[in-house]
Amino acid sequence: MASCDGIQIPSHLPLLLTHEGVLLPGSTVRFSVDSPRNMHLVSQRLLRGTSLKSTIIGVIPNTRDPEHDTYDLPPLHKIGTAGIAVQVVGSNWPKPHFTLLITGLCRFSVSSLLKERPFVLAELLGMLDMSVPVVAKFRRLLDSLPRETLPDVVASMIRTSNKEKLQVLDAVSLENRFKTALSMLTRQIEGLNLLQKTRKKSPDNEKRVLSVRKGGVFPGRQFNVDEEDEDDGDDTSVLERKIHAANMPEAALKVCLKELKRLKKMPQSMPESALTRNYLDLMVELPWSKNTKDCLDIRSARTLLDNDHYAMEKLKRRVLEYLAVRQLKSSLKGPILCFVGPPGVGKTSVGRSIARTLGREFHRIALGGVCDQSDIRGHRRTYVGSMPGRIINGLKTVGVNNPVFLLDEVDKLGKSLQGDPAAALLEVLDPEQNHSFTDHYLNVAFDLSQVLFIATANTTATIPPALLDRMEVLQVPGYTQEEKVEIAHRHLIPNQLEQHGLTPQQLHLPQDTTQAIISRYTREAGVRSLERKIGAICRAVAVKVAEGHRVAKTEAPVSEGPLEQGDKAAAPPEMPIVIDHIALKDILGPPLFEMEVSERFILPGVALGLAWTPLGGEIMFVEASRMEGEGQLTLTGQLGDVMKESAHLAISWLRANAKTYQLTNMVGGPDPLEGTDIHLHFPAGAVTKDGPSAGVTIVTCLASLFSGRLVRSDVAMTGEITLRGLVLPVGGIKDKVLAAYRAGVKRVILPQRNEKDLEELPANVRADLDFVTAANLDEVLNAAFDGGFPGTDRAHTPPQLTSKL
Ligand code: ADP
Repeated sequence: MASCDGIQIPSHLPLLLTHEGVLLPGSTVRFSVDSPRNMHLVSQRLLRGTSLKSTIIGVIPNTRDPEHDTYDLPPLHKIGTAGIAVQVVGSNWPKPHFTLLITGLCRFSVSSLLKERPFVLAELLGMLDMSVPVVAKFRRLLDSLPRETLPDVVASMIRTSNKEKLQVLDAVSLENRFKTALSMLTRQIEGLNLLQKTRKKSPDNEKRVLSVRKGGVFPGRQFNVDEEDEDDGDDTSVLERKIHAANMPEAALKVCLKELKRLKKMPQSMPESALTRNYLDLMVELPWSKNTKDCLDIRSARTLLDNDHYAMEKLKRRVLEYLAVRQLKSSLKGPILCFVGPPGVGKTSVGRSIARTLGREFHRIALGGVCDQSDIRGHRRTYVGSMPGRIINGLKTVGVNNPVFLLDEVDKLGKSLQGDPAAALLEVLDPEQNHSFTDHYLNVAFDLSQVLFIATANTTATIPPALLDRMEVLQVPGYTQEEKVEIAHRHLIPNQLEQHGLTPQQLHLPQDTTQAIISRYTREAGVRSLERKIGAICRAVAVKVAEGHRVAKTEAPVSEGPLEQGDKAAAPPEMPIVIDHIALKDILGPPLFEMEVSERFILPGVALGLAWTPLGGEIMFVEASRMEGEGQLTLTGQLGDVMKESAHLAISWLRANAKTYQLTNMVGGPDPLEGTDIHLHFPAGAVTKDGPSAGVTIVTCLASLFSGRLVRSDVAMTGEITLRGLVLPVGGIKDKVLAAYRAGVKRVILPQRNEKDLEELPANVRADLDFVTAANLDEVLNAAFDGGFPGTDRAHTPPQLTSKL
């Protein structure tokens, strides 16, 4: 064991074989290693060890290309440098490798190799220059540099080739080392002088400077930029060139050049050096002035939107108007379009089509769950691990400054102590401010005014008001069963076939199978699960087709002569695989939604309501039962306060009108609550439910319970109630009616004042459903029971239908 400036160097040292770069005592060099021996050394020695000793290794230049030394040990240089690994970073991209930062301690020469695998372990002959101190920090080193270290430090600082560095390494005698290093230093100084002179002569002509640096004659040596870069890893000059080529605004350029100057002065081992380099790399990559040319032609935009999307007429019309205005005004100022609707109705897809019609790049920024404003605006560079925000990152990804950015799920922005992301987003979207958007990481303004922003949301209720104010909301409603069948056959099936490498000649999905998938395997407003189910079918068929191919291929050579009848039968016939109901069950399993609505109406005390959720409309059962008790009401199914109030209102109204409607308690008494406990349950108990629109459903359900009559199984309803029995209008009528239609309901009862909302419904839905518009509960009960309800004005007369809309 020998000691080098207080650090014990073991006499048996594992060797890192380097192909590029030479470590000299006192300098710190970064090595990237990926050969098997070096990888083993890092993983088994450096990463496992816990003591200082385990971080000391020998670095020895290998004189042959590492590609060829996977098994045999390559010839090694005679002298190496013992060093401390100060940093180890691993990565798997583009292939597994480690990057090591090693500070050289002192020279050694190898006496013998103890083993060659899994990594090389050597016995050392001795330390050759124990006088060299350990110098980890460059600056401290400069302050207190002992004379004898000068040649090593100088040689590691100046531009030299590997060969020259090896000469310095080999110069064991101090005198020799000084001579070798001095000649290199003189050459470097003369080279720099020459460069300065050229710059002074034509300060504005960067190209000439470069040409001198590239091919110009430096005393003693021909310089070549590429060679320089490879030799000593100093690529600041390349970076400088890139900075000038990035075409950035004056302010940004100034910051970059200042940072570059700082970078040049920093030793590479300083952590800040990597940070500054990352910053500059990002700055030169940003599309400061790169853009795509808009190629908008309204007529072809219309065709493209129609080809990509079935139905959605209103939305497509509005999008075309928006594009047309933009074309005429050729300015981007105006409201931001915000598509609001349930998942899977094509919001993202329309955004993508808009980008295509304009010939622009498209990028989606997911905002769901973002609650920190630095997600939008970036972290300041003083933080460890700081990064730019999603906007700047997006621009870097697309590489142009005028993409279409889809801000997905603006309704799911959160808020936290780290600032309000909505406020940052406001600045991004505001045309008065966004031409100088300043990301905290960049710390210089970037012009976002050419970016076309589109937002999407499931509901407007949770979009921050200030943000909503900037946007024009376009509702995208859910689809009917018929529309889904059309979308499936026109778009989803062809797309999925293509994605799975299949053709219509190989897979056929008849219409009634599609209908079965929609009604029995999905329950959604959009078509996302439908698309997934079709994907699952394609995968199953792809396996069958691939198996068929293999059979055909392996069996073909067996029959050498002309094919006989029997051989022909062995090859699968070229016919499509048809997915019928049996195949569907085999592939997708038993149906997920088989229970018919009517099957739930076998006892009194069940009614079907309609609810609105951000995911679209839904049907909602209400169940009630009664038992002996003291007039208590129990509510279950995760209800909000408003819903609970509706239940109390309903009971009060029914008790007050018990006589009129001939409602009784369990023993036939006139007060339905006397000696009775009531339990109201809203199934799907895991989902929280709230809102006043279940009022009419609760009344109907309890009226059924107290009268012992069954509610019609094909009726669904919605509406708020008052204590005096009036029915008030509610929201989300369109989605609710579509949900009822999907569930096979025939009659929908809704508040009279919601009649106008029915105009938004597709014509076939309007034609297929009976709508009863009710102004009071009397009318609701009359329409919900077969033959009307006893005591209502129109009992036994058919209810007023408004289906002729
Ligand atoms: P969203 O953004 O509303 O959640 P997507 O745009 O991701 O929905 O749509 C889901 C899938 O359904 C996509 O493959 C899309 O192309 C398809 N899709 C939705 N609506 C339509 C439509 N009207 N016509 C054709 N394809 C549609």
